[in-house]
Amino acid sequence: MSAREKIAYLRGLIDGQKVADTPEKEKFFAALVDALDSLAEAMEEHEEVHNELNDYLEQLDEDVSELEDDLDALIEEEYDDDEDYEDFDEEEYASVTCPECGKDFYYEPAAYDEDEDLLCPHCGKPFKYPED
Ligand SMILES: [Zn+2]
Repeated sequence: MSAREKIAYLRGLIDGQKVADTPEKEKFFAALVDALDSLAEAMEEHEEVHNELNDYLEQLDEDVSELEDDLDALIEEEYDDDEDYEDFDEEEYASVTCPECGKDFYYEPAAYDEDEDLLCPHCGKPFKYPED
Protein backbone atom coordinates (compact mmCIF):
# COMPACT_ATOMS: atom_id res chain seq x y z
CA MET A 1 0.00 0.00 0.00
CA SER A 2 1.23 3.44 -0.91
CA ALA A 3 1.14 6.36 1.53
CA ARG A 4 -1.84 7.78 -0.39
CA GLU A 5 -3.72 4.49 -0.09
CA LYS A 6 -3.02 4.26 3.63
CA ILE A 7 -4.29 7.79 4.15
CA ALA A 8 -7.43 7.00 2.14
CA TYR A 9 -7.90 3.87 4.26
CA LEU A 10 -7.51 5.91 7.45
CA ARG A 11 -10.01 8.46 6.20
CA GLY A 12 -12.44 5.61 5.54
CA LEU A 13 -11.97 4.28 9.09
CA ILE A 14 -12.57 7.71 10.63
CA ASP A 15 -15.73 8.24 8.54
CA GLY A 16 -17.03 4.69 8.75
CA GLN A 17 -16.56 4.10 12.46
CA LYS A 18 -17.81 7.55 13.42
CA VAL A 19 -14.65 8.18 15.44
CA ALA A 20 -15.23 11.92 15.20
CA ASP A 21 -18.34 12.02 17.39
CA THR A 22 -17.87 15.65 18.43
CA PRO A 23 -17.14 18.76 16.30
CA GLU A 24 -13.76 19.06 18.12
CA LYS A 25 -12.76 15.48 17.18
CA GLU A 26 -14.04 15.98 13.65
CA LYS A 27 -11.81 19.06 13.35
CA PHE A 28 -8.86 17.18 14.83
CA PHE A 29 -9.14 14.19 12.47
CA ALA A 30 -9.69 16.44 9.44
CA ALA A 31 -6.49 18.34 10.33
CA LEU A 32 -4.64 15.04 10.87
CA VAL A 33 -5.68 13.59 7.51
CA ASP A 34 -4.92 16.95 5.86
CA ALA A 35 -1.44 16.95 7.37
CA LEU A 36 -0.87 13.37 6.14
CA ASP A 37 -2.10 14.39 2.67
CA SER A 38 0.39 17.25 2.62
CA LEU A 39 3.16 14.85 3.64
CA ALA A 40 2.23 12.39 0.90
CA GLU A 41 2.13 15.19 -1.65
CA ALA A 42 5.54 16.50 -0.57
CA MET A 43 6.94 12.98 -0.81
CA GLU A 44 5.53 12.52 -4.31
CA GLU A 45 7.03 15.80 -5.43
CA HIS A 46 10.31 14.77 -3.87
CA GLU A 47 10.15 11.45 -5.70
CA GLU A 48 9.44 13.23 -8.96
CA VAL A 49 12.46 15.49 -8.53
CA HIS A 50 14.49 12.45 -7.53
CA ASN A 51 13.47 10.61 -10.72
CA GLU A 52 14.21 13.65 -12.85
CA LEU A 53 17.62 13.94 -11.24
CA ASN A 54 18.18 10.24 -11.81
CA ASP A 55 17.31 10.58 -15.50
CA TYR A 56 19.58 13.60 -15.71
CA LEU A 57 22.44 11.72 -14.06
CA GLU A 58 22.00 8.76 -16.39
CA GLN A 59 22.09 11.11 -19.38
CA LEU A 60 25.14 12.83 -17.93
CA ASP A 61 26.82 9.48 -17.40
CA GLU A 62 26.17 8.55 -21.04
CA ASP A 63 27.52 11.90 -22.21
CA VAL A 64 30.67 11.47 -20.12
CA SER A 65 31.18 7.97 -21.53
CA GLU A 66 30.86 9.33 -25.06
CA LEU A 67 33.31 12.11 -24.22
CA GLU A 68 35.74 9.55 -22.81
CA ASP A 69 35.51 7.53 -26.04
CA ASP A 70 36.06 10.67 -28.10
CA LEU A 71 39.02 11.61 -25.94
CA ASP A 72 40.52 8.12 -26.23
CA ALA A 73 40.18 8.28 -30.02
CA LEU A 74 41.72 11.74 -30.04
CA ILE A 75 44.65 10.66 -27.84
CA GLU A 76 45.22 7.62 -30.04
CA GLU A 77 45.24 9.88 -33.10
CA GLU A 78 47.69 12.24 -31.42
CA TYR A 79 49.89 9.31 -30.47
CA ASP A 80 49.95 8.11 -34.08
CA ASP A 81 51.04 11.59 -35.16
CA ASP A 82 53.83 11.55 -32.58
CA GLU A 83 55.09 8.28 -33.95
CA ASP A 84 55.44 9.89 -37.35
CA TYR A 85 57.66 12.56 -35.84
CA GLU A 86 59.77 9.92 -34.15
CA ASP A 87 60.64 8.31 -37.46
CA PHE A 88 64.35 8.41 -38.12
CA ASP A 89 65.56 11.44 -39.93
CA GLU A 90 68.11 10.09 -42.36
CA GLU A 91 70.12 13.27 -42.20
CA GLU A 92 70.64 12.97 -38.46
CA TYR A 93 70.92 9.22 -38.06
CA ALA A 94 73.17 6.72 -39.74
CA SER A 95 73.06 2.96 -39.80
CA VAL A 96 76.23 1.13 -38.82
CA THR A 97 77.15 -2.51 -38.55
CA CYS A 98 78.97 -3.59 -35.41
CA PRO A 99 82.28 -5.31 -36.35
CA GLU A 100 82.10 -7.37 -33.12
CA CYS A 101 78.62 -8.97 -33.37
CA GLY A 102 77.62 -8.01 -36.94
CA LYS A 103 74.30 -6.41 -35.92
CA ASP A 104 73.06 -3.13 -37.33
CA PHE A 105 72.03 -0.15 -35.21
CA TYR A 106 71.38 3.52 -35.64
CA TYR A 107 73.52 6.27 -34.21
CA GLU A 108 73.68 10.05 -34.47
CA PRO A 109 76.97 11.08 -36.16
CA ALA A 110 76.57 14.72 -35.03
CA ALA A 111 76.62 13.56 -31.40
CA TYR A 112 80.05 11.96 -31.70
CA ASP A 113 83.52 13.40 -31.96
CA GLU A 114 85.67 12.11 -34.82
CA ASP A 115 87.95 10.08 -32.58
CA GLU A 116 85.18 8.96 -30.22
CA ASP A 117 84.27 5.28 -30.05
CA LEU A 118 80.78 4.05 -30.88
CA LEU A 119 79.11 1.76 -28.37
CA CYS A 120 77.19 -1.20 -29.81
CA PRO A 121 73.80 -1.52 -28.07
CA HIS A 122 73.71 -5.26 -28.85
CA CYS A 123 77.01 -6.51 -27.50
CA GLY A 124 78.13 -3.37 -25.61
CA LYS A 125 81.57 -3.30 -27.25
CA PRO A 126 83.09 0.01 -28.37
CA PHE A 127 84.50 0.52 -31.87
CA LYS A 128 85.50 3.28 -34.25
CA TYR A 129 82.76 4.22 -36.71
CA PRO A 130 83.64 3.88 -40.36
CA GLU A 131 84.57 7.06 -42.15
CA ASP A 132 82.85 7.67 -45.46
ZN1 LIG B 1 78.04 -5.48 -31.33
